[in-house]
Amino acid sequence: MVQAKSWTLVKHFDGFPKDGDFQLKKFAASGVRRPFSRFHMKEGDVMIGTQVAKVVQSKNPEFPVGSHVVSNSGWRSHSVSDGTDLTPIMADWPSDVSLSLALGSIGMPGLTALYGIEEVLGLQQNETLLVNAAAGAVGNVVGQIAKIKGCKVVGSAGSDAKVAYLKELGFDEAFNYKTVPSLEEALKNAAPEGYDCLFENVGGYFSTVALPQMKTFGRIAVCGSISTYNDGTPQTGPYPHMTMIVKQLKMEGFTQNRWQHKNPESLKRMIGWLQEGKLKCREHITEGFENMPAAFMGLLRGDNIGKAVVAV
Ligand code: NDP
Repeated sequence: MVQAKSWTLVKHFDGFPKDGDFQLKKFAASGVRRPFSRFHMKEGDVMIGTQVAKVVQSKNPEFPVGSHVVSNSGWRSHSVSDGTDLTPIMADWPSDVSLSLALGSIGMPGLTALYGIEEVLGLQQNETLLVNAAAGAVGNVVGQIAKIKGCKVVGSAGSDAKVAYLKELGFDEAFNYKTVPSLEEALKNAAPEGYDCLFENVGGYFSTVALPQMKTFGRIAVCGSISTYNDGTPQTGPYPHMTMIVKQLKMEGFTQNRWQHKNPESLKRMIGWLQEGKLKCREHITEGFENMPAAFMGLLRGDNIGKAVVAV
């Protein structure tokens, strides 16, 4: 029996998570209950999270020993699966591409960016796109794909280091939303012509200010609402309906799994961009299983540039 470790939720977060909300346990590897999101978690559950895992024992020929999978088994060092919740990493994954990118730019977050742009926004050459949380795992890929498509890209992020990173990636305009005197002015200055498309990761106040900066017939892909995830009670108003009407905007929420049948072809395309140097991938790596809560709290504080990964 393999000795395994896990991090469990001791107590539901009251506002921002604290060290005492998590507990490190040692146990024999076993099958796992997988809550869909942290909002579905019960106290005592293993923290949710996605990992690249190596198959070390197998009775399933689809997952031979030594192969790699993306697994949603949470904050565990080892787990047992019947295979239904595992995604095999393609056997011809190039040896010069780090496997951890299967969690980020060449995985679910990257696919989220691609599908938001191609399937939801239908982004066209020469359009102007705004993305927030732009230095995050999804946002940085959004901006880079939009550049590949010949668009003007504006990104907002929460530190000067992140803004510098966005410029390095080729964003046309980037600003620190925490230090600009006025978010409205920053959005206007970055694109006086207005925005054709908004890739929305943040929600809340940012949305309220950004919507009036859209062009008439602008399109908005609602991918996330990270500014609201720690709210104890759902936010109320201000509602964007009048702006939506006056600007005749189209807003669509989505989850990336709607297009999962396209994943193999999409991942190959993105690996191609990576190898051609058109897509750059940066990860924010924390070393050590013991440091998972610290990495998670850092993520919620916005410490990460690119995908937050814990190397075990
Ligand atoms: P990351 O975890 O990589 O980065 C999140 C970033 O969001 C942080 O680094 C921080 O950057 C910013 N942020 C955190 N808290 C706040 C806040 N209160 N207000 C404003 N910004 C904040 O995120 P991902 O790129 O993986 O995910 C981005 C969004 O997309 C999330 O909302 C996520 O839930 C959603 N998502 C949706 C999917 C879908 O299928 N619809 C799939 C995957 C993700 P900064 O310092 O710049 O503020």
